Amino acid sequence: MLSPNNFLKKNPGITPKYAKALEKLGLFTVQDFLTYLPFRYDDFSKIVPLSEQYIGKVVTVCVKVNSAKLNRIFKRKLTIAEIICEDENGTLLKATWFNQPFIIENLPKDSSVRLSGKLELKGKYFTISSPAWEKSSREETNTGRLVPIYSETPGITSKWIRWQMKNMLEAGKQIPDYLPIELRKKLHLYSFFSALRQLHFPENAEKLLIAKKTFAFREMFLLQLKSLQIKNDRKTKQAESFAPDKNLIENFINNLPFQLTGAQHRAIKEILFDLKKNSPMNRLLNGDVGSGKTIVAAASALEIISKKHQVAILAPTEILAKQHFSGFCELFKNNNFNIALFTGSYKIINSQNIDRKTMLEKIHSGEIDLLIGTHAIIQKNIKFKNLSLVIIDEQHRFGVEQRATLLQEANSLKDGDAKNIPHLLTMTATPIPRTLAIAFFGSLDISVLDEMPKNRKAIITKIILPSQREQIYNFMHLEIDAGRQVFVIFPLVNESEKLIEIKAATEEYKKLIALFPGYKIGLLHGKLKATEKEVAMREFKEQKTQIMVSTSVIEVGIDIPNATIMLIENADRFGLSQLHQFRGRVGRGEHQSYCFIFTESTNSVSLKRLRILEKSMDGFELAKEDLNLRGPGQLLGKAQSGLSDIAMENLNNLKLIKIARTEAQNILKNDFKLKKYPLLAKALEKFAKNVHLE
Ligand code: ADP
Ligand code: MG
Repeated sequence: MLSPNNFLKKNPGITPKYAKALEKLGLFTVQDFLTYLPFRYDDFSKIVPLSEQYIGKVVTVCVKVNSAKLNRIFKRKLTIAEIICEDENGTLLKATWFNQPFIIENLPKDSSVRLSGKLELKGKYFTISSPAWEKSSREETNTGRLVPIYSETPGITSKWIRWQMKNMLEAGKQIPDYLPIELRKKLHLYSFFSALRQLHFPENAEKLLIAKKTFAFREMFLLQLKSLQIKNDRKTKQAESFAPDKNLIENFINNLPFQLTGAQHRAIKEILFDLKKNSPMNRLLNGDVGSGKTIVAAASALEIISKKHQVAILAPTEILAKQHFSGFCELFKNNNFNIALFTGSYKIINSQNIDRKTMLEKIHSGEIDLLIGTHAIIQKNIKFKNLSLVIIDEQHRFGVEQRATLLQEANSLKDGDAKNIPHLLTMTATPIPRTLAIAFFGSLDISVLDEMPKNRKAIITKIILPSQREQIYNFMHLEIDAGRQVFVIFPLVNESEKLIEIKAATEEYKKLIALFPGYKIGLLHGKLKATEKEVAMREFKEQKTQIMVSTSVIEVGIDIPNATIMLIENADRFGLSQLHQFRGRVGRGEHQSYCFIFTESTNSVSLKRLRILEKSMDGFELAKEDLNLRGPGQLLGKAQSGLSDIAMENLNNLKLIKIARTEAQNILKNDFKLKKYPLLAKALEKFAKNVHLE
């Protein structure tokens, strides 16, 4: 009998070629295959004929191809694939796709195809632009049911997957169901196998919904179990307790050149309350760009340093570490603390350069009160005398794996007195919406900075289409002539595109040199040496350069008050939160600032999304939009990788998350180690390996 643990490549029905293609999808065993779920369903009960009543609506039509051609628009390096087709009644439809020339080969004359998209009427044709498409055959379309569509890979079609799924599904019965049966009954969920069967071969929409809910809940439940365990586990650890010195903190606050916001006051209070306990704090400071997280961190650090204990602040980049170093030296200039900067390129204490060995000695002896650096400082087995607080700024930027090691290291850093571990404060780069925070960061306590400092100026934000580019360059000239500075950003999409982005930035840099004669232009990207980056940043800060062309290395917390224009290329490819981050680099000084969002997209959905940015300056609101429109992956970076798509969709579902949390609490209350639920314990262990929660 077929076992879920069998390898697919050993399955006689699967040729080596198929087995290889499946491995590309990360599917090795029968169980992997069975849990490879459709990403959508075609509802053939909803196929409509071409008719005026559907104009303006998103529809699925079933048509036959009459002719196909590819138009090239050389100058703009565009191709437009165009097919003319007809439905059962002989009504004509024209479908077009930009820059997807391969479609032509896939849809030869007379092939049957289903197209989904917004129906319009242009001239004599019904039209759909950039529809989702799938080849179809009569037999499927006539069944009138929900047909699962799997995400495909070269060599593997949805159809093939459906066929194999039918053959292998029975093996799913042997996969143990870790969800306690009483819980399943209570919440009216399906068993694992019933849910699996409905997901692959749904009987109807209603049953499919319950199946999806079942799968989502299963993961939510594991997620909550794990975060509660982490939370509790930390509570059993010891940390140094610090009785707050009220006068000290009040003095510090009163001497600032501005008044703290209510949210900042609240966050400081919450942190001081945590520091008083003798179990380690594990708190996330959740706030928008410019909400003033640094001051909150500084007040917390002050509390510790004044008691002669050490604090470490970690930043994701050298530039940011350096900026924090200058900032903290300024903030604490009357305090006589020893503040050090320790990164790959810098070893500085107060204003003095020292060597690495001296740095290590001074950390160990406790002479250094506040150590600021990149993650390098924590991973190199550095010994502190009594490290009692670790602050991680822009924790997002560290990457999941790095973050995991970081936390492990932070926890194992002993403060001389071996039984204590340091308190931990992490700060976000992007505000995290409440549902997501509860779902994903349930192991942390959270302070929210949801109030902006009063002096913050509105930034004028505009979407710029290719035809308006000249106009913007003219405007840049005016601003630069008036003494202001400009950022031009080519954001990095992912690691594999790094070189492309650097190339794009370098080309633009050359172009701008030609366009702005007499001005100096800087270039910043990840391939430069730290010292080169430093020089580029310093020259911009000192206004020696007027325009800074950069890849996304600029993104994190850079503070240049004289810069008034933020110009973002290829903006449609990024999340709103990310764009908002870039925008936050301007509007930091007294002058009116502008954010220009360049896009060549003609897609109405993505333009509509970008328009939200024109209207809103509220990072929490934008993050929420991202969550709704693009899912949590946008906000969490790679952190979500361990979750299934169904679970991800439901990271938005506050009700489900809350039920999962309550039920997880109930079960752990009496059985913290899950002794009575060995299957659950095992599933949890496996789950925790793939998902990072902090
Ligand atoms: P972020 O939360 O993005 O890290 P920062 O801590 O860098 O923000 O603060 C942004 C700027 O706002 C800094 O120049 C800081 O000095 C200033 N700032 C912080 N809090 C206030 C406040 N309550 N009122 C006015 N300005 C503030
Ligand atoms: Mg910051």
